[in-house]
Amino acid sequence: MKILLLGKNGQLGWELQRSLAPLGELVALGRTDTPLAADFDDPQGLAAIVRELRPQMIVNAAAYTAVDKAESELEPARGVNAVAPGMLAREAAAMGAWLVHYSTDYVFNGSGRLPWNEDAPTAPLNVYGRTKLEGEQLIRASGCRHLILRTSWVYAARGGNFAKTMLRLASERERLTVIDDQFGAPTGADLLADVTAHALRTALQRPDVSGTYHAVAGGETSWHGYARLVVEWARAHGMPIKVAAEAVEAIPTSAFPTPAERPRNSRLDTTRLRETFGLTLPHWRAGVERMLAEVHDR
Ligand code: NDP
Repeated sequence: MKILLLGKNGQLGWELQRSLAPLGELVALGRTDTPLAADFDDPQGLAAIVRELRPQMIVNAAAYTAVDKAESELEPARGVNAVAPGMLAREAAAMGAWLVHYSTDYVFNGSGRLPWNEDAPTAPLNVYGRTKLEGEQLIRASGCRHLILRTSWVYAARGGNFAKTMLRLASERERLTVIDDQFGAPTGADLLADVTAHALRTALQRPDVSGTYHAVAGGETSWHGYARLVVEWARAHGMPIKVAAEAVEAIPTSAFPTPAERPRNSRLDTTRLRETFGLTLPHWRAGVERMLAEVHDR
């Protein structure tokens, strides 16, 4: 079986290179690879690559993820997050291939306190969320067999992320201020990649599982709770941290204005994913601590 992985160098793409490898012949491409450059700004070129390789599965880890920048770059963001995935979906439909695609908690408006399920009404607050939602809609409309996995607050040992930024700031400053009124679950790219591989194995046997699923780690926290865990762990493990855990101060979103508005409630209900694929999603804290240990040991 041939699997085409696109966006191989992102946080998730890197982990998928590992988790998809045992499933079949893996062709992993990035946007500047030669001779096949999987450039999402060139959807026709992307379609030509798919036609040439004729994979049974396409896994799309490429995305325009610069949430604030997207506010002033609608068309580039739309191209990568909606137009190109729509093209991939049409190609997948034409050749009977599966398409795996990732979406986001940002398709919701963040109202209320309850976890969102897959059928809850979408209403993105920002350009990134709108382009990701359009990508989902184009995939569903194509008629291809698909897994759309909505996730949140993705981190990985490789690449930059919130936890690493907190570590750096905590080594430079004596006080940190972090938002405490946005709630969600930090989700490791490694967990998401493993979930993808397990779900794909089921999907190959059961085409009826085609659909949209919420895939995030267990539990929930705020950015403030996440930052406190990072600082506490780093202090306990002898990292050079100036900030005491009590000096991580909670602030409201209103005190930290950004170009893109963010949802307050990013809790996602993962019941459908767990029950359909028989999976357990470990608590977010376990994954973050593992990532911190990896970063620490380098
Ligand atoms: P990253 O930003 O780490 O990686 C995105 C990848 O997309 C990079 O490899 C990048 O390539 C590639 N890419 C961007 N533009 C293009 C383009 N024009 N042509 C080809 N490739 C391109 O993202 P993550 O791994 O964190 O995200 C994975 C998925 O999860 C995405 O669908 C994202 O929307 C979703 N998600 C992410 C969240 C997060 O917190 N990060 C939260 C919720 C959902 P290059 O390396 O060349 O820049």
